[in-house]
Amino acid sequence: MENRKTYIVRYGEVALKGANKPYFERMLMERIKKVLKKFDGIQVNKEDGLVIVRTAPEISEEDILKEIGKVFGVDSISPAIEVDCDMEAIGKAAVDYTKALIEKKGIKTFKVEAKRSDKTFPVESPEIAKKIGAKILIGCKVLSVDVHNPDCRIFVHVRRERTFVFEDKVSAFGGLPLGTNGKGLILLSGGIDSPVAAFLMAKRGMLIEAVHFHSYPYTSERAWEKVQDLARILTAYCGRIKIHTINLLPIQEEIVAHCPEEETTILVRRFMMKIAERVAKETNCSMLITGENLGQVASQTSDALVVTDAAVSMPVMRPLIAADKVDIIERAKEIGTYETSILPYEDCCTVFLPKHPKTKPKLKEILESEDRLDCEKLIEEAIAGREAVLIRP
Ligand code: ATP
Ligand code: MG
Repeated sequence: MENRKTYIVRYGEVALKGANKPYFERMLMERIKKVLKKFDGIQVNKEDGLVIVRTAPEISEEDILKEIGKVFGVDSISPAIEVDCDMEAIGKAAVDYTKALIEKKGIKTFKVEAKRSDKTFPVESPEIAKKIGAKILIGCKVLSVDVHNPDCRIFVHVRRERTFVFEDKVSAFGGLPLGTNGKGLILLSGGIDSPVAAFLMAKRGMLIEAVHFHSYPYTSERAWEKVQDLARILTAYCGRIKIHTINLLPIQEEIVAHCPEEETTILVRRFMMKIAERVAKETNCSMLITGENLGQVASQTSDALVVTDAAVSMPVMRPLIAADKVDIIERAKEIGTYETSILPYEDCCTVFLPKHPKTKPKLKEILESEDRLDCEKLIEEAIAGREAVLIRP
């Protein structure tokens, strides 16, 4: 028990919740337990507004930080040591802790910052900092104090049961625990944007299901594998993701045969939305999610988005609508989807790409074009042929 490793897990927004706070805390703990399930002997406890994770000493700190760092709702994590709330014991622990830091990081200056949550502890915070600082100076002769710009800050947090001594604060994503906000259906292409859109909604607590459209045999098996690879990367954050795949080729061929060429893209997009809405209803998803982004391409002008939106009555979440491409790319790199997204496999949208897609489509004209097609039959057939794959973390 005594030489176990301890991690302080802080949650930001969850802590701001009112009456629902216990629910959010419970969901957060469940998620943390789940990502740490692969390690033996993990303890996860809630202690006065923090989650404390304790592991066997041999489990790598890097692995634990990596796993907890992917749990939405977590703000930051600090590896820490625990001691009894006793100045003598704290001093000794702080000296040992600092010695290890000198060894590991070659620090030359330090500062102690103290916090006393347990107001019955007889020594006040500034005094704790001063006394422990003095002990470190005596115990670690190579160090000096620098209160303004220290190489390292040693935090001493005196709490009711135990005192924590720690240094680093590793930031996590924040957000809300997965599963606290319903389920949404992401229209997942192989591009950069849609995986990021799914990530952002999951970060607000939404479970994710996916639908992917292909135009086999115009799009390849490799393109489909790429989409599964993207989903697999996302599962690290979003948990398991079911992908429904739908062949759009018969619909695209009908559109090409009967409608004006420049309307192809917008018509295809409306079919995608309508099919996605049906899949969403069948799978208890309350919203659609896309990676659409204002002005990015012809199908994402404000006029085009209005016409696309009118295809469905379900709310469509577009978390990237006002983001700049550089920021989306940065996020994609951060979550690890970018390198896969840029692999050059064809997407169904590029199969029948018109030379001059309409950037200002009118809903009335688009509806007239759709009247030339047996939309209902096409949608039903597309859905009847759908397949599903479950991607696990
Ligand atoms: P992305 O980078 O996500 O592919 P994009 O910039 O290529 O987006 P579009 O191809 O116009 O833009 O697609 C806009 C959105 O429509 C995508 O973000 C995605 O949500 C959805 N989408 C596009 N193609 C597909 C597809 N083949 N299957 C499922 N959804 C798709
Ligand atoms: Mg795309």
